[in-house]
Amino acid sequence: RVSFIFSQVLHLKEALKEKGLELKLFYGNPIDIFIDLSKEGFEEVAASGDYDTYARKRDLEVSHILPFNAINDTYIFQPNEVLKADRTPYLVFTPFYNKAKTLFNQKHLHEYQFVKQDLYSTDYEGILEYTQTRAQLHTLDTTSIGFEKMTLSVTASLDKLDALEKKLDSYKNDRDFPCLDSTSHLSLELRFGTLSIRQVLRFLSKQRNKGIDTEAFFRQLIFRDYYAYLLYHFPYLETENYKYAFKGIENINKYESFTQAKTGVPIIDAGVRELLQTGNMHNRVRMICASFFTKDLLLPWQWGEKFFAQHLLDYDAASNILSWQWSAGTGVDPQPYFRIFNPYLQSKKFDKDGYYIKHFCPELSEVNTEHIHDETALFKNTIPNYPKPMIRHKEAAKKALQYFKMVI
Ligand code: FAD
Repeated sequence: RVSFIFSQVLHLKEALKEKGLELKLFYGNPIDIFIDLSKEGFEEVAASGDYDTYARKRDLEVSHILPFNAINDTYIFQPNEVLKADRTPYLVFTPFYNKAKTLFNQKHLHEYQFVKQDLYSTDYEGILEYTQTRAQLHTLDTTSIGFEKMTLSVTASLDKLDALEKKLDSYKNDRDFPCLDSTSHLSLELRFGTLSIRQVLRFLSKQRNKGIDTEAFFRQLIFRDYYAYLLYHFPYLETENYKYAFKGIENINKYESFTQAKTGVPIIDAGVRELLQTGNMHNRVRMICASFFTKDLLLPWQWGEKFFAQHLLDYDAASNILSWQWSAGTGVDPQPYFRIFNPYLQSKKFDKDGYYIKHFCPELSEVNTEHIHDETALFKNTIPNYPKPMIRHKEAAKKALQYFKMVI
């Protein structure tokens, strides 16, 4: 992520230079830096609104150093825009989505609305003392701030929109199949603001005018808004369950088998390898892995969330945390705890020919594809360099149900 941000900032710096402007970069604690900037005569801050706990605390502190204008360009709606009739937040996605659709209008397509948000007017407890040294960065270099530089093959933001134009028609039907390149890969751009959400919305509006069905894609963007909205209204969800006293059972061995892609369950190992090798994991596979982690392995969802956070390029606190809570069954959605994915049925349905699995697990390339989705066959087979499944799914699911019944 740091390498990605650096490369994007470098582009921006170069683009501004061509216009005769100089982009200055500072490294250190935001509080220290903004105190210095206020002393240098800077008058106000303009930033994109960000709603996770760290960002809100940071922005609140900065807002007491310099007047703070949050541009609502991170999400489609502001966090207090989509509310129930009694002005409380929605806890179920579909009614949120339906209300969001009724509120959505031209204003949401416009660029950069500078709005003074009430976000930063909560109680403020004073600037904390920081000891960290601060420095102005003269060279753009990840190693100077303690990170190892990674070479990324990242497609330019606008090229992704061009590519999406060709994918939109089949997006609804194809988006669940990990071997198809059928999704937008925009999560990284949206996370870091390298593409504005409004730019994506204007692109969708253009496609809709051409008669293309954009509903399924728009729904996913609203999902992103919804998760940020939930974390804004219920910050404790960052670490705590919304429902059930499910804590999971800590087990380092199980955790290591999962994170080292040695579960012996092909779709899970392929997913984890995709994550470790590329910094991405297909959405359907994220769901299968998170269900396996929290239900079959009964591990704490917070451990899985942290593992994803360490490796996902598109890591976003709200989407990651709320998705893990959804998978664990502990979140706000009304789905009961007994929704447990069968990883073999899932891979049979969404990677029938095993292209995705065999790509990331080449040691399975010679295995009969049907056997890849068949737990019994995997137990019987001896595959060189590939472990037998670490658990039997049916037994694990039964144990998970018993465990959940105990804690609800
Ligand atoms: P597309 O299918 O092209 O979707 C378009 C955009 O809609 C995405 O870029 C994303 O911004 C949004 N979106 C799509 N699906 C979801 C969803 N289920 N929830 C919220 N927003 C969505 N997404 C992140 O951006 N960061 C995360 O850290 C993250 N962690 C996840 C963890 C788990 C366990 C799960 C199940 C999902 C997670 N997601 C996360 C959501 C989703 O997997 C990714 O947004 C998606 O895979 C990104 O690929 P894309 O841009 O090609 O998506």
